[in-house]
Amino acid sequence: MAERDYYEILGIKKDATEDEIKKAYRTLAKKYHPDISTEPNAEEKFKEVQKAYDCLSDPEKRSNYDQFGSEEGNPFGQGGAGFSGFGGFEDIFSSFFGGGRQSRRSPNAPQKGHDLRTNITLTFEEAAFGVKKEIVVNRYETCSKCGGSGAQSKNDVQTCSRCHGTGTVVVEQNTILGRIQTQSTCPECRGKGKKILKHCTECHGEGKIRREARISVNVPAGIDDEQTLRLSGQGEAGINGGPNGDLFINIRVKEHEFFVRDGNDIYIELPVTFSQVALGCTMEVETLNGKVALKIPAGTQTGTKFKMAGRGIQNQTSGRSGNQYVTVKVITPTKLSGEQKDLFEKLSKTNETASSSIFEKFKKFFTKK
Ligand SMILES: [Zn+2]
Ligand SMILES: [Zn+2]
Repeated sequence: MAERDYYEILGIKKDATEDEIKKAYRTLAKKYHPDISTEPNAEEKFKEVQKAYDCLSDPEKRSNYDQFGSEEGNPFGQGGAGFSGFGGFEDIFSSFFGGGRQSRRSPNAPQKGHDLRTNITLTFEEAAFGVKKEIVVNRYETCSKCGGSGAQSKNDVQTCSRCHGTGTVVVEQNTILGRIQTQSTCPECRGKGKKILKHCTECHGEGKIRREARISVNVPAGIDDEQTLRLSGQGEAGINGGPNGDLFINIRVKEHEFFVRDGNDIYIELPVTFSQVALGCTMEVETLNGKVALKIPAGTQTGTKFKMAGRGIQNQTSGRSGNQYVTVKVITPTKLSGEQKDLFEKLSKTNETASSSIFEKFKKFFTKK
């Protein structure tokens, strides 16, 4: 019953700014994400963090929470504000009236179905260009035969005669504090508020059926590792005609053999020979859209970074596109043929008179000492 304070969960002060809340949430969500976390009880902690963030990131809910200790506002209606901040009240309330707040909700009220979570692993290219994927999700769907009522026909649904549809019954008890009325779940209908005379043959009265659903997902171009897609209404079936839950898809992106991604930018290393950089050349560089020519000027140093504008990822969600950055890496030959060895020796002897800028720079460097 005793929930941890939302501010405590996120490790922030009561007067934290929106940015501080967001930052704390991001750090903790990463730390406890059930798919990547190695922390014990990661899933529970993740949910706790999610709940705290959902409340504190919404100004209205946060204000309610600060005032009444609940994001729904004053749980006791008008005149009950005097109890705010009195932590033990709810427990006392529950022990007297059974169940507390929840049991007072009508059992027939529409409720949103549960949210579902799943993962998709994409290749580097699929994430960059976007892809259509079919995923399989096990979920409860509203029974199509009875439309969720659980009965064979409308006439087979009857309001519970014991609780008159409220789902709860009041029992009088004698206690040391005197005569006390306790509210409890109706034993006749088990809180449903209605009775079904003839059950639907398809769902046997449940109103929902567990199914393997095949869902087509349009993954937008530019999605990145650890991002989440939300498919509204693709979670579990709603209860009593409430809306369906949502489906959250966690995206994982596999590493690429050559490309390294940072946001919408792509980084690649380009191995070149000593003579290619000394003399200058045009290289065919691998990009997401195939090979593109890149001019390497004579005298380029190893480690030089070239920008290929607009050759990065075209992000469909943000509408922005990235660049490709090419870092030149001069490869020193490890095995030389006899002829190559001769050439390098000749080159070595010409160093004194060499006019290339590289050799000039080296000369200046050594003569300084
Ligand atoms: Zn009943
Ligand atoms: Zn049914």
